[in-house]
Amino acid sequence: MVETGDNPASASGSDLPRSFSFGPDDDTIESGRRSPNNSLLGSRNASRDSLLSSQRDSVYGSRYGFGNAYIQVDDLGIYLSSIAVTALMAVMATIGIILFTLVVTLAVMLGKCQQPPVPNTCRSFALNAELNNLQGWLLPKECENYVAEYVELGQYYTDYKVALDAARDYLSTLSAGPDHRDLIVLDIDETALSNIPYYQANNYGTDPWNEKIWNTWVNNASAPALEPMLSLYSDLQAQNWSFAFITGRPEEQRNVTAQNLLSAGYAGWSALVLRSPEETGLTAVEYKTAHRKELEAQGFRIWSSMGDQWSDITVESVGSRTFKLPNPMYYIY
Ligand SMILES: [Mg+2]
Repeated sequence: MVETGDNPASASGSDLPRSFSFGPDDDTIESGRRSPNNSLLGSRNASRDSLLSSQRDSVYGSRYGFGNAYIQVDDLGIYLSSIAVTALMAVMATIGIILFTLVVTLAVMLGKCQQPPVPNTCRSFALNAELNNLQGWLLPKECENYVAEYVELGQYYTDYKVALDAARDYLSTLSAGPDHRDLIVLDIDETALSNIPYYQANNYGTDPWNEKIWNTWVNNASAPALEPMLSLYSDLQAQNWSFAFITGRPEEQRNVTAQNLLSAGYAGWSALVLRSPEETGLTAVEYKTAHRKELEAQGFRIWSSMGDQWSDITVESVGSRTFKLPNPMYYIY
């Protein structure tokens, strides 16, 4: 028999036996909702139910949704009704399907945009053209993308600049006399002026030559300067060097050619030579060599010739060192 009168708790007025104590119930103690009339376990559950009920309905909780589909948020957590859970899963599944569809669509589009690989023959063609093995050949149609990449991704400009850096280094070892007779001979197209805008619009030289379209472009006189050449030209002119242009353009394009050179930034040349009607039957080598000799006969001392074609820089009277500039689009001899 238990002597409840010996229990200090009873003596203190509490009816809870110490041997059943679960330790302090912080939630209920703090909330002050312990029930004095039930067993301890019952009291604890009732207290928690009461707490949940009162707190979910308290001013500190919020319920969102419609009818039986709702989300309740209070300081004990977030609660979803079964209908809300079903709706949420349906939304997540829909979003997953949409994202998967987008990824697949994007992959298909990227695959379609991908350029076909450049055939090795295009690189071989470019190399052998620069080695002067392919005189008179037209760029193969399947190499248009190769040229487009070469030009538009910057390799063409870099190759061009490296060639002119070498020219600048060489000419810096020489000194032009005060009589302005020390001469550098330049070609014009793809040497002093760039026709890249024209070739970009005309399949990079893979189409058969169309004189009418070309002449329309030339007569616009809008070809930009190749900047490394314009820079070299200006710097060397300031050091008493003289320049002569010899171009395969016909004499009838003299005015637009001079206009284009001036608008691009070139000025003060010593000679501008264009092909006369009587020279139509000459090869480029014959025509250009004849005019270099003519310049020498006038007292000029040719130290260097520069051009994008071998015909600009070969045979006689080309100077002590020549510089071949890149041209991925056409080859003339
Ligand atoms: Mg040229």
